[in-house]
Amino acid sequence: MACDCMLLPHRDDGDLNSSLELKPLPNGPWKGKIAYLDRDGVLNQGSENYINSPDELVILPEVSNSVAALREAGFRICIVTNQSPIGRGIWSSENLHSIHERMRELLLNENSNAHLDLILYSPYAPWDGSWARKPNPGMLEAGRQIIDASENNSRIKLKFGIDWKDRPDESCSVMVGDRGVDMEAAMNFGVRGIRCDPDIGISQVISMILGD
Ligand SMILES: [Mg+2]
Repeated sequence: MACDCMLLPHRDDGDLNSSLELKPLPNGPWKGKIAYLDRDGVLNQGSENYINSPDELVILPEVSNSVAALREAGFRICIVTNQSPIGRGIWSSENLHSIHERMRELLLNENSNAHLDLILYSPYAPWDGSWARKPNPGMLEAGRQIIDASENNSRIKLKFGIDWKDRPDESCSVMVGDRGVDMEAAMNFGVRGIRCDPDIGISQVISMILGD
């Protein structure tokens, strides 16, 4: 399938190309590791009918501690989530933002280090053919470049697919998801993919990621 590179990922906290205000990691400077995390079935309970409002958001057990443990191990956290209800005209980006505000609040209430450094989403419907919709790797490509540029105080100039040539090493990074499309996105991007049970979420695989 031909993919449209102009259908860019969207960013929860504003303009895709603006510099990210990164919270310091608890154990010293960042060395380049990113944990790319799917949202539904990894951080919160998923639903066949989407998560449509903050009230429908149910965080899975031990998620805040898992996110904090990843940050303690030196990972930046980048959420990469397909959100086609926007492209299908079911609800707006503002609604999604209110859901993510709630998610950030719930996680930080449980563990003050459970920061989500960056939330990227694909608002497109499947038939739009966006490079930013998983299983395509556009959100992961954008996440890497936004976090790198923000850490280095350099200008964000996103490149995608074959246009992005000087790619950094992703061998210490990881992508966690509960579905085949997440594992395909990991493979297409070139990062280790780890699948979790959607009823358990990230806590099921945290020791596999941290190697303990
Ligand atoms: Mg999922």
